[in-house]
Amino acid sequence: MPLRNNIFTNRNYKIRVLHILNHLACLYAAYYFSWTGLAVAIALYYFFFGWGIDIGMHRLFSHRAFKTFRFYEYLLLVFASLATVGSSIAWVGMHRRHHRSSDGPEDPHSPREEFASELPSWQKMLSVYFGIWPNYYASPKQTHGVRRLKPHQYAHYYYFLIIALYVGALSLISLDAVVWGYCVPATLCFHGASLIVTLGHSSESVSKRTRDYSVDSVLLHWLTWGEGLHHSHHKYPNKYHFENQPWYLTDLPGLTIKYLMRAS
Ligand SMILES: [Zn+2]
Ligand SMILES: [Zn+2]
Repeated sequence: MPLRNNIFTNRNYKIRVLHILNHLACLYAAYYFSWTGLAVAIALYYFFFGWGIDIGMHRLFSHRAFKTFRFYEYLLLVFASLATVGSSIAWVGMHRRHHRSSDGPEDPHSPREEFASELPSWQKMLSVYFGIWPNYYASPKQTHGVRRLKPHQYAHYYYFLIIALYVGALSLISLDAVVWGYCVPATLCFHGASLIVTLGHSSESVSKRTRDYSVDSVLLHWLTWGEGLHHSHHKYPNKYHFENQPWYLTDLPGLTIKYLMRAS
């Protein structure tokens, strides 16, 4: 199945529109606040981001850092799609490019190199945070390992249909279910992903080992369900679990993989 649209990140205008609508829905959520709703949204943020992005998009689809059962691969793909940060194929292409040229001129979302000659640093950070980076072509080479897999192809083609079906099902329950069950967790995913690409590369100086500005951050770790060991990840991108960390840097996605999802 050939891919019609290789440029499919949060530059995609439909995803932009969804992000705007989701943020507006958060205003509704704040006005009609409910503790139950917040608990549901945080739980779903855990599955959309902690499973869908941390484990699925990142450690499994991009780095193939572990082998798992098909059931988990498909489940992670669904959560990753509902996180509303682009299709798995596009995300993998973008992320592999990020590793190949981390904080270099080819990095799609470096807060250090991007617009380096034109903007002051806080504006660079904000531009990258809100996904204002150049379009790029996710080549077959960059997306090998997922591009030919049917479930990922379907999740790419029918990306908005997956989200629409989920939102449609929630709408049968109530408007509040749509807001707390999709809009709020998807908004949290947007900010979680934006924090990783900015705060995760906020070191004062270039690392000799990784030649980029990546950092390990406790704050980032707690806000993204365990993706704060970003510098460690750049050092060892194919490691699925960072063991022997202090309790406040426990690798929750790694533990989930180790004790629940790893096939061999
Ligand atoms: Zn990075
Ligand atoms: Zn990575």
